[in-house]
Amino acid sequence: MLDMKWIRNHPDEVKEAAIKKGINCPLDELLEVEAQKKKLQQLVDQQRTERNRASALIAKLMAQQELAQAEAMKEDVRSCNQTLTEHEEELAKLEERLKLLLLTVPNLASPDTPLGASDQDNVVIKEVGQPTVFEFAARDHMQIGEDLDLVDFPRGVKVAGSRNYYLKGMGLYLHRAVQQLAIDLLSDRGFTVMDVPLMVREETLVNAAFFPAGKEQTYELSDDKWLVGTSEGPLVSYYANEIVDLSKGPVQLAAVSNCFRQEAGSAGRDVRGLYRVHQFAKVEQVILCENDPVAAERWLERITRNAEDILELLELPYRIVAVCAGDMGAKNYKQFDIETWMPSRQAYGETHSSSSLLDYQARRSGLRYRDQNGELRYCYTLNNTAVATPRILIPLLENHQQADGSIYIPKALRPYMRGLEAIPAP
Ligand code: AMP
Repeated sequence: MLDMKWIRNHPDEVKEAAIKKGINCPLDELLEVEAQKKKLQQLVDQQRTERNRASALIAKLMAQQELAQAEAMKEDVRSCNQTLTEHEEELAKLEERLKLLLLTVPNLASPDTPLGASDQDNVVIKEVGQPTVFEFAARDHMQIGEDLDLVDFPRGVKVAGSRNYYLKGMGLYLHRAVQQLAIDLLSDRGFTVMDVPLMVREETLVNAAFFPAGKEQTYELSDDKWLVGTSEGPLVSYYANEIVDLSKGPVQLAAVSNCFRQEAGSAGRDVRGLYRVHQFAKVEQVILCENDPVAAERWLERITRNAEDILELLELPYRIVAVCAGDMGAKNYKQFDIETWMPSRQAYGETHSSSSLLDYQARRSGLRYRDQNGELRYCYTLNNTAVATPRILIPLLENHQQADGSIYIPKALRPYMRGLEAIPAP
């Protein structure tokens, strides 16, 4: 959420950001509702003062036994109270509307964010490794999964519907191995690793800026509970409405969790295989740092580097793209995606998303800290995937397949794979 005062003073910048991001922003209505609210608030304040003054006078008249005059005034106060109540109700409605409108105003885009409307306009800024070349007929991950009995798609669909799967045997080990590798790496780099609630209140997802816009992506349960699409929500909310201690440096949180997504709007896209599924697991990094663009930039680089190091440990070719404004979503200020080479697609596919949000989430979540002068300020927040699986199993299985049908296991994964150097062909 942007600061209302800032929005009022910079309407053109807000409009420009919304246009760049392709987001419909009701800025005019927001400013109009705010002006109405201000006017009504003044009237209500004035009426409350008058009512209080009259009540005090009535008490004085009663004490002086001026009962007739006191009764007449009571009648005035009653009618004044009635108008006041109506105005207070109107004011509450305006405040509610204002809050809702404010939640729909997108974050700005950083000045170095490329312009563009979709992922086609993202700009490649780095490439590491080369697309894998095979001297045999390479199989896609679905075929490998079936041949080596690692994944069962038909039974996943039978039991849970489309975009579902079972992971089996070494398929499950691989899925858990990449998560444990990521957890160990982040623990070694100062992150507090966590298991987090996966069924959270609506308020949590509003505060972390997944709602109101992203509701159609999220599974609703009963009792004001929603299944998380990422642990970013519960991680960002961990210190919600608290004064965060940043005196010893930024807060570095990481979680391993299952993630649940409706994939609304993806009808017909990536329906087969492990790319776009309803349930997956993710190790996520979240940073709360001081309100300083230089610090945020440094942390964006660091959390991106963590993901790169994991991909290098997995011995996979990847590239980094600067995500354009139109592909970035409402809440992000700056975003890099990491895309890993997926032979069956003959393309790089997104496997990680690294974002800086400035104080957009922190304002909604009440995440504040005391700066060096003791002043309360909103934190800046950042997040990035460390690893998301089973999507990462696509490049792992496909790039590491061997001519004899086995799958090479990168050295860094072997401690989590019972020491196995390869998943043997059947
Ligand atoms: P996001 O939280 O949307 O930034 O996504 C982070 C990462 O999670 C993506 O780069 C993917 O690796 C993974 N991911 C997101 N959505 C899905 C999905 N529906 N199925 C499988 N993996 C996903």
